[in-house]
This record gives sequence, C-alpha cells and structure tokens, in this order.
Amino acid sequence: MYKIFYGVLLTLTWLFSPALFAQQSVVNVYNARHYLNDERFYQAFTEKTGIQVRVVEGKNDELIQRLLNEGKNSEADVLMTVDAAYLSLAHEQNLLQAISSPILDEAIPEHLKQTEGFWYGLAMRARVIAYAKEKIKPAQLSTYEALAEPQFKGKVLSRSSSHVYTQSLVASILAANGSEITERWAAGMVANFARMPEGGDTDQLRAIAAGMGELALVNTYYIANLLNSNKAEERALAAKIGVFFPNQADRGTHVNISGAGVTKYAPHRKNAIKLLEYLATEGQRYFADANYEYPVNPLYQPHPTLAALGNFKQDVLNAAIYGANNAGALKMMNKVGWK
Ligand code: FE
Repeated sequence: MYKIFYGVLLTLTWLFSPALFAQQSVVNVYNARHYLNDERFYQAFTEKTGIQVRVVEGKNDELIQRLLNEGKNSEADVLMTVDAAYLSLAHEQNLLQAISSPILDEAIPEHLKQTEGFWYGLAMRARVIAYAKEKIKPAQLSTYEALAEPQFKGKVLSRSSSHVYTQSLVASILAANGSEITERWAAGMVANFARMPEGGDTDQLRAIAAGMGELALVNTYYIANLLNSNKAEERALAAKIGVFFPNQADRGTHVNISGAGVTKYAPHRKNAIKLLEYLATEGQRYFADANYEYPVNPLYQPHPTLAALGNFKQDVLNAAIYGANNAGALKMMNKVGWK
C-alpha cells in the first residue's frame, strides 16, 4: 500500500508541468525503519525537490524477501532499515547497487557506510550500559568486557542472542578481541545474567527499575524516548537509570546505524540518490530526531536529550564488518548458552 506525501502547491505544480509529469518525479522507498514523524522529512524533501516519496512499510526480513521475490520487476528505489546487519544482508543477497556521490562521501564518516557505496548510515545509535543509579556507581563500570566479571553476578540484563542488536554488538567484540577471548566473555555474561534474556531494550530498562537487575545493554534512543515520554510513569522510570558509555579508554563504545541503500534495479535511481543526499544533509535534523538518534553528519548537533548524556568516543570499526559477522556471533552465543 502506497502512502503518498505531497503539498497542495506541489500537486498544482505537478499537474501543470508536463515536463515534470513526463519524468515521473517519484522515489519508492521500502522502509523498515518506523518512527512517528517520518512524514515530516518526506514532505520536506518533496517541497524542496518536487519528488514524491512513496513508502512501502514492512519488517526488515519481509522487505528483503520481497526484493528477492520481485527481482528486476521491483519498483523499489531505496531500501531503508535499521542495523548495519540488514543492510549487509541485502548487499550480500545482491539487492543493492553501488552509487557514487560526493555529497554522501563528505557528509558521512567512513565507519558508518559501506566503502564501495552500496549503503549508507543516515543516523547513529550507541549501545550503552544502562545502570540502576541507586545501586551502581559509574566508577564501578569500564568496558563491555568487564560486565562478565564475577562482581556483577546476577546483575546483568540482556536482550536475546537472536536479536540483531545483540549480534552486532558481539560481532564488534569478536572483531576487537578474537574468538577465544570473546567466547570466554560470552560465557561469563551468561553466568552473570539476572534472568534468561527476554524482551526488547525497553523491557531491560523496566527490569532495572523493578529491581530485577542492575545493568543492561541498550540503545541510546530507548532511554531518550523514556526521558521524553508524555507518560509520567515512564519519565520516572528513566530517572532511575544512569547511562554509561563503555570502552572509552580503548576502542570506544559500539555504535550502529539506521541507513539506506539504492536498490539494484531502482527505476528512479537519480531520485533515490537525491533522497539519500537530502537525508544525510538538510534532512539530518528530521531523520535523526524522529527517533532520538545521533546525526551521522558532524555538521549537525545531537538532540539536546542526547547531548545531555555527554560526548563519547565511538568504536570506528566499519559497520560492514560487524554487520557481516553476525552469524558468527550468534553461533558463539548459542554455544555458551546465551539464549
Ligand atoms: Fe530499536
């Protein structure tokens, strides 16, 4: 089902402009990144360029499968999704094409895009250690690795190993430390779990507030969403939680992206590139803030809620590397009983 976004003025321009009509000024987006205010950046893009954005919503796996099924007949121009792993997967399945764009080259740091131009990170999230302020002092925390130490026995909360966020984080630890050390670490994490992994990131935060654990690995926007919630109960929950950026003394905190690539058979390739360029520049504000993510483009400041969490050093391991290593990370976690 297509959702079509355009302003009234634009519709008029369109109707009375045969040239534009002939060019079929549209771009079709298969979108697995769903947040509340997405319409705003599509509208702003249309107002600026005259290109209509038609969006097909779906889940990551569904949209990748749909692209596979449709092959050359697909109307999709852009695949937009969360986590580098899904973009890597789409690239591996030969569903994306390389593009070259000086604007994207300049706007997006090296580690947040695929080096040949198959996909680009457009917003960034950090996977941080959330802690119970009442029970944990930040001075007790240091690295992801240290969460496996015996002092945290029974205190650590995690999402399941079947989830891509866990896999991407562990893939980054694998890249840093190698398989032997990482496997020992993963076993130590399992030994420290407050409960068997269940639920999403917000559920881990709720578990901390409910006293079921003291430490959890979560993406920054889940905390920012609670801090800005219109429900007093959620703001109160967020107030109990501290945010710690791990590995600041070595490789930096693991970051991941939401991003997009131009599809292999994009019928409106030029428009697709324009949309990506817009989202990586002027559109950064809308795109990142829609979900309290960090802009990737250093010209744009993080939302004040994120800025208040403080500056941090990022792990600059290329997103394509941890994206591609998820299968290995999952296998390792399964081996040590990380459900
Ligand atoms: Fe998420």
